[in-house]
Amino acid sequence: MTHPTDILVVSAHPDDAEFGAAGTVVRWTREGKGVVYLVCTGGEKGTTDPGIRPEELAAIREKEQRAAAYVLGVRETVFLGYPDQGLEDTPDFRKEIVSIIRQYRPHTVVTSDPYRRYIWHRDHRIIGQVILDAVYPYARDHLAYPDLLDKGLKPHKVRELYFWGAENANFRSDITDTFGQKVAALRCHESQVREMNKPDIEGWLREFCHNMAEGEDFELGEAFYRIEIPD
Ligand SMILES: [Zn+2]
Repeated sequence: MTHPTDILVVSAHPDDAEFGAAGTVVRWTREGKGVVYLVCTGGEKGTTDPGIRPEELAAIREKEQRAAAYVLGVRETVFLGYPDQGLEDTPDFRKEIVSIIRQYRPHTVVTSDPYRRYIWHRDHRIIGQVILDAVYPYARDHLAYPDLLDKGLKPHKVRELYFWGAENANFRSDITDTFGQKVAALRCHESQVREMNKPDIEGWLREFCHNMAEGEDFELGEAFYRIEIPD
């Protein structure tokens, strides 16, 4: 079964996409584009509270992510349930990602940058790399996984990639008008906002997005490394 969509946003953990791309996601959903979220792990290690069990936290974070996706107008949110801090660039994981890309057939895929050098979660690096490889060449080539063809998952060419967290951003999206929804979506991740210990989350985020708009004629932005994929 295929469910063609415009944009597939892939994150390692619940909340990554809100930090990285929520304002841009709202721009797309306002234009009527179909956006699907794919969340690879449960984020069950994202706490300093010794009293909470990982499976409890995963359930909380799934709810928080669904609430945030709702605020942004995301059409569907898919959870893969891999262990937090446990993503690996394996042939099986790559194949699963290729299957999903062929199923949703997105024009654009958005995820975390694999090449940010320091203090970057290993899961962020791994998913960025797996996406990059899955998009090109594995999702595109019919001989990559002949058995997927038997399941009706035909090759698919993704046209555009956006990576958040890039050190060398080459594209800045204007989120001045959608910043309020980015804040609202981030607030849905209550368990994580608590961990951040920033009483003025909106002010902190405003400064962050102001920096992301550096060199542009708009006030608030999200910065990406963007690639168009040639034929
Ligand atoms: Zn993360």
